[in-house]
Amino acid sequence: MQTELMRPDELGIFMAADLLRSGGLVAFPTETVYGLGAKVYNEAAVAAIFEAKGRPADNPLIAHVLGITGAQECGEWTPLAQILASAFWPGPLTLIIRRKPIIPRIVSAGLDTIALRAPSHPVARALIAACGFPIAAPSANRSGRPSPTTAAHVMDDLAGRIPLILDGGPSEVGLESTVVDATGMCPLVLRPGSITPQMLATVAGECQVADSVMRQLQEGEYAPSPGMRHKHYAPMARLTLVEGEDEAVKRVLLTLAKGRADTWVLALDGELRHTEGLRFKSLGRDAGEAAHRLFYLLRQADEEGVQRIFVKALSPEGVGLAVMNRLARASGFDIIQAAEFNNQHHH
Ligand code: AMP
Ligand code: MG
Repeated sequence: MQTELMRPDELGIFMAADLLRSGGLVAFPTETVYGLGAKVYNEAAVAAIFEAKGRPADNPLIAHVLGITGAQECGEWTPLAQILASAFWPGPLTLIIRRKPIIPRIVSAGLDTIALRAPSHPVARALIAACGFPIAAPSANRSGRPSPTTAAHVMDDLAGRIPLILDGGPSEVGLESTVVDATGMCPLVLRPGSITPQMLATVAGECQVADSVMRQLQEGEYAPSPGMRHKHYAPMARLTLVEGEDEAVKRVLLTLAKGRADTWVLALDGELRHTEGLRFKSLGRDAGEAAHRLFYLLRQADEEGVQRIFVKALSPEGVGLAVMNRLARASGFDIIQAAEFNNQHHH
């Protein structure tokens, strides 16, 4: 199959909507990352998403809608969903509510809930509007890889496997949406994103965060958000997180990464920049910039044949929680505590 790249002008949107209507797949830009879409009501088309991505069958998809009315087609709306959607839609917030029977089970990987999001990206919105039905779409990467934040990333992963990519330029947020269980009275964050627990608490009065967000699930343990069970977001290079004070982290890196041409060190600006002998790559000035750059940098590392990546841990506050959640999984929970390491390697 030839993969077409189109500008998201009137013709592009028309072609994409036509493909989706007839059961085809289309990759399209959103403000978080690029999505790989299918008509939510078409079971075979949704199955083709799992096939194209190599996605495990137990990892549910997000249905993309224009707003609250569209969401109410797909799931049993709740007072909490109303509060959160009113505050944050359209935007990078996914709400989990009970699935209506009209939605094929495959969309939610057999769960009786459905994940819903109204994206704010004008191209995503134009596409949903042109279709007139919700679009089921996970991130448009091969399963396990970092999510795509440009059309070129989608091409790298899915060329020959899907007919069309709409190129809307780089994604603004760069990390996947915040996923919140909105079936109950209190929001429960299943996957952190750029809409933080603090922001959710501001409108909902309170907010909980699933403890699996920063922890590795044990064998056989129940996963509230099934995607968290799988290896995720990983570059080809081996990635290790280093936690601790600046000076302690610096010492670890001088031991493990100094003078190595195949090794990158990622950190926020100002933290390690002037350390001699390290191949420093900036995550930006703060967690928001790190979110925007992270997947881009991981894919760039692969392109340049980098073998080893060390990342100085961010503080898990605000958007930092989302960045750390992705990094912990990208590393397969390979995390060095700098103080401990330095004690053991002390001479
Ligand atoms: P992706 O768009 O590739 O980031 O994948 C969507 C993610 O949303 C999944 O990996 C899950 O973590 C989450 N998700 C989707 N549907 C549900 C659901 N019904 N319950 C809990 N989490 C969900
Ligand atoms: Mg994904």
